[in-house]
Amino acid sequence: MKYSSSDWIFGMAFFIFFTPLKRRFFWKKLLLFFSIIFSSFFFSCQHIIPESLFCTCNNDSFVYEWVVIGAGVGGIVAIGKLIDMGFNLKSIAWVDQHFSVGRLGEFYGLVPANVMNGKFYTILNNQKSFRDVHSNALNHLGSLPKNDFSPLNEVIAPLQEITNDFMQRVNAFKGTVVSMHFYGNRWHIFFDNGDCIIAKSVILATGSKPRELEYPASTVIPLDYALNKNLLKELVKPDDTVAVVGGSHSAILVLMFLNELPVKKIINFYLSPIVYAFDEEGNRDNPMGIKGIAAQWARKYLNGENNAPKILRIFNSANNREKYLSSCDKIIYAVGFIPRHIPTISINNEEFDESQLSFDPQSGTIGPRLFGIGIAFPDFTIEGPGIMIYKIGIEDFIEYINERMAFWCRCHEMLSEDMPNSSIKKIADRCVVM
Ligand SMILES: Cc1cc2nc3c(=O)[nH]c(=O)nc-3n(C[C@H](O)[C@H](O)[C@H](O)COP(=O)(O)OP(=O)(O)OC[C@H]3O[C@@H](n4cnc5c(N)ncnc54)[C@H](O)[C@@H]3O)c2cc1C
Repeated sequence: MKYSSSDWIFGMAFFIFFTPLKRRFFWKKLLLFFSIIFSSFFFSCQHIIPESLFCTCNNDSFVYEWVVIGAGVGGIVAIGKLIDMGFNLKSIAWVDQHFSVGRLGEFYGLVPANVMNGKFYTILNNQKSFRDVHSNALNHLGSLPKNDFSPLNEVIAPLQEITNDFMQRVNAFKGTVVSMHFYGNRWHIFFDNGDCIIAKSVILATGSKPRELEYPASTVIPLDYALNKNLLKELVKPDDTVAVVGGSHSAILVLMFLNELPVKKIINFYLSPIVYAFDEEGNRDNPMGIKGIAAQWARKYLNGENNAPKILRIFNSANNREKYLSSCDKIIYAVGFIPRHIPTISINNEEFDESQLSFDPQSGTIGPRLFGIGIAFPDFTIEGPGIMIYKIGIEDFIEYINERMAFWCRCHEMLSEDMPNSSIKKIADRCVVM
């Protein structure tokens, strides 16, 4: 049997209360008892005792139909879809810490896009809810040369205007969701400031963060900073030797930026040779490969014969690490992304940690009327034996939600008390599968 933190706290409180003590200690004991109970109430929804007993909002709170957590590209796409589907805007809540287009907006504006301007414009303009915003920045994107790869700022600007417009129309809450409790057939969603909202269905679009390793090396430059050339410039010095670990898109971009900055040497630890999405004639070669400006640059400067003079590329073996890492002043890990921590979740009094919640990419479900979208909850394709390609671009998220929304809506309706439907029980079962 598993005891939750609340079991321990209540056990402790009752032990103190019932321990026989001299009469003169009675009031002290009573005080201690109530202070433990009070503090458990206070902390209950901030991870200490995530139980429905405490983690419910006021019964008279408004019940939102949908809450979307996260306002990166995944969250924007989710809100756009709900708007396009005609849900009452007042019944939609949207939560984010910043509302500034997620990680893309915060860090990657100077990164060259891997999609051409023309295609990006078409992707965004094809969504009715996006088009209806009449964004000047979207019109500007449409006026840029169609076959160029611009910095991502050109895409972030229209996405920010779309975000600002959506924020006026749905209920936007700035803050961090710390815990979510499914109780009484509703989600009770708690913020870091103690506020709470209730919803029937929740879409998590909480995103990912760069993965880091723990090589015995000196100062780590976080990948997010390294992908912002202006920030990176501040973090390296002319006599630095910088290690870059990784060999895919982000690693190549970092090598490209570093090569343009005054640093002494760059050592790139790679595991496999560079693969390109398109061959030199422009035919599709490898869907896992690098594209756009990163690919053009790698073909020119990392081709083996005419490597950029400052860059040494070596296989990432234990021997090579031992030999070269000690000479590096800074290290940058460009070795993929891992999902950000999601809020603490309990379902009917049972607490689940992240490893226990399983995301089903086919249906997009995580729990009862709990769905996922974006880079942390991606779709994938199998491109060959053992080759799994995660679909994490804007177009992928739109396709993903278009394919799953009908199912999500059926879950949403079936599980609400007013619309039970036993004839399609099979789908209802899947809607609560975790
Ligand atoms: C270098 C690089 C280049 C790329 N280039 C392209 C490209 O050219 N084209 C393309 O289509 N894609 C590109 N991508 C991929 C794409 O940008 C990402 O897949 C996408 O930005 C992920 O968006 P997201 O909404 O899933 O996550 P995020 O951007 O991480 O957004 C998550 C949001 O959720 C919020 N959040 C998280 N937890 C909570 C919480 N508990 N409470 C409240 N808010 C919370 C965060 O504040 C954040 O705003 C690129 C990615 C990288 C790294």
